[in-house]
Amino acid sequence: MSLPQFKLLRPRSLEEALDFLSKYAPDPAPGGLETAALGRPPRTPFVQTASIPTQDASIRVLAGGTDLVPSMRQKLFEPQYMLDLRAISALRGIKPQADGSVEIGALTSLRSIERSEFLRQHFPVLADAAATVASPTLRNMGTIGGNICLDTRCLWYNQSLTWRKGCGFCIKKDGDLCHVAPGGTTCWAAFSGDTPPSLLCLNAEIEIVSPSRASRISLQDFYTGLGDNYRKLQPNELVTRVFLPPSMAGYRGVYRKLRVRGSIDYPLAGVAVTMKQSNGHIDDARIAITAVNPAPMLIRGASEILIGKLPNESLAEAAGDLAARISKPLTTSALTPEYRREMIRVFTKRAVLAAAGLN
Ligand SMILES: Cc1cc2nc3c(=O)[nH]c(=O)nc-3n(C[C@H](O)[C@H](O)[C@H](O)COP(=O)(O)OP(=O)(O)OC[C@H]3O[C@@H](n4cnc5c(N)ncnc54)[C@H](O)[C@@H]3O)c2cc1C
Ligand code: SF4
Repeated sequence: MSLPQFKLLRPRSLEEALDFLSKYAPDPAPGGLETAALGRPPRTPFVQTASIPTQDASIRVLAGGTDLVPSMRQKLFEPQYMLDLRAISALRGIKPQADGSVEIGALTSLRSIERSEFLRQHFPVLADAAATVASPTLRNMGTIGGNICLDTRCLWYNQSLTWRKGCGFCIKKDGDLCHVAPGGTTCWAAFSGDTPPSLLCLNAEIEIVSPSRASRISLQDFYTGLGDNYRKLQPNELVTRVFLPPSMAGYRGVYRKLRVRGSIDYPLAGVAVTMKQSNGHIDDARIAITAVNPAPMLIRGASEILIGKLPNESLAEAAGDLAARISKPLTTSALTPEYRREMIRVFTKRAVLAAAGLN
């Protein structure tokens, strides 16, 4: 499958990248981030004889390219311009701060995160999750920013143009129906990044920069919960940094994931747990899941179940039951939804016990 034609822009600094964005990115939707993300874009009417879609009249950000480039080969994106960030060294690196927090540049490779002694020691859940992404080669290229911004996935969407055309396309791209939930108007494509649940457990924030402003938001507020319009990011905005707060340093952490091929695959269900204990009791704990909903999610109520208790099998099972209830896997991905939900229960139990040092 060939790549569509595009013009490659290679800024050497953030300022240059923002200049390109102000020149080539379309104006943001009125109302800013919130409105753009929560308001549904107008749907094009479904036509049985749908023709080959026209090019996106837009610009796309390229970081490692490990997800974007295969998607472009499938003609899921056909931007006029590609903004290749890789030469911007200021956006790379893990920078511990004097107060115990850490800043991670959006272009930092997943391999650097996996291998960082500092992160392994102070924020182990993130290093654990990064080490499970794809394969070593892809982790060398893939970045933390790209993992956070990763497109949602579906068996009906991550296919070639010919395949999708044969099925009449779908809501997420060029069509007006959902093959997973027929009759509905919502896309349920699954968010399938491995590091965001650990970042949610760590209370991470991200910096978003556009030609006109910079803002810092909680990662939790970045995702919309929609399968198609899944993130609150305008075409003229970049994710530039990830911040981990000092209050989360030293928490034990574990990430567990289900995948078909252990050496390379996207998660089909994933669970991150962070925990702090004193005198055997749980002082604080969080659980987050991925790949079973259109957004990575913190499990509400998990902390209430765990805090103040002595960790044991039945407590871990209760946390697993809660996580399984909140997960909503559909037929967007390989393996059955029932099995994926069951594995959320099992992995949550195991991850809670492992974070407590009990297995
Ligand atoms: C065979 C295979 C297996 C994979 N397995 C996994 C897996 O197990 N787990 C997993 O999580 N991922 C997996 N991936 C996907 C991918 O490798 C990772 O998610 C990687 O972290 C993506 O980062 P990237 O830098 O390559 O992003 P890119 O592909 O460059 O970009 C991904 C998306 O993010 C946007 N983007 C990137 N950086 C920024 C930024 N700084 N600001 C704004 N937007 C940005 C891009 O425009 C694009 O929409 C797999 C990919 C392949 C091909
Ligand atoms: S859930 Fe899958 S089939 Fe349904 S609209 Fe989203 S991508 Fe298309």
